[in-house]
Amino acid sequence: MPIRSRVARARPRPASDAGIEPPESTSLFAYGTLADDRKVAALLERPVAGSGAELVDFERAEAPGFPYPLVVEAAGRRVAGRLYRHLSEDDFARLDAYEGVGEELYYRALGCVVRPGEDTAAILGILKDAGVRATFFLCGSSVERYPELARRIAEAGHEIGNHTYSHPRLLGRTPGKIFWEIDRAQKVIERHTGRSARLFRPPYGLRWFGLFRILRQQRMQAVMWSVNGRDWKIPAERITARVLSHTHPGAIILLHDAPPPGEAGNRRATVEALPAILRLLGRSYRFVTVSEMQSQL
Ligand SMILES: [Zn+2]
Repeated sequence: MPIRSRVARARPRPASDAGIEPPESTSLFAYGTLADDRKVAALLERPVAGSGAELVDFERAEAPGFPYPLVVEAAGRRVAGRLYRHLSEDDFARLDAYEGVGEELYYRALGCVVRPGEDTAAILGILKDAGVRATFFLCGSSVERYPELARRIAEAGHEIGNHTYSHPRLLGRTPGKIFWEIDRAQKVIERHTGRSARLFRPPYGLRWFGLFRILRQQRMQAVMWSVNGRDWKIPAERITARVLSHTHPGAIILLHDAPPPGEAGNRRATVEALPAILRLLGRSYRFVTVSEMQSQL
């Protein structure tokens, strides 16, 4: 059975080992509607890569059952937690942190994976302190999931752009699908922020036949970037160095406040890099939103 073979490789350790937090302070949770053990095993493999956390142990490996006790190592720290097959509303209310939708599984280990929205909130604070307004390209599905954050972005005076509803690669998609992605995101953004996006950034920068006609119909304009911080991939110091060395007058700098919808991970590196980027570039540049820059050209 997949669970057992995985455990055999994982060199189980008892949860009472020094360094493992007691169950009362369980700070790792996973959630999913899981049909069978094979699916559990597959799901367990997936979020580990994106979260920066490493699964080091299943407790009770010889008698798998829900909730599965787990031990995860993250940022040099071991954290005990449980994997649930299904959580009731009451269970949810009792947990201090969770992230999960449908059959997607995510988990959070203390000091490693942040709560949903934490990076966005931190970035909003950094921009506010620096007196900088940016352009946030929002996915409709993320706005539906975190409407309060979307409202805060709008209320802080940042420009809001459309980044599709579900963040698909647009290559090979029909004009109907592309239209649906843009139109649905537009409606969700309008409903939750009261703003109508004028700018569109295609996921992964991929443009496809039919996109520009649809954007014209929607009175929208595609925006790319000229400086890519690659902040989903590299550590903070390298992000800062990249952005500083590539920025030029009229540059559009691409950074992220969150992973694409449905993907695990965080943008802590961006949160770490941003204050220095704003401070150092601020000596020679003024930061404006994309629309402000276009109106000054
Ligand atoms: Zn994107």
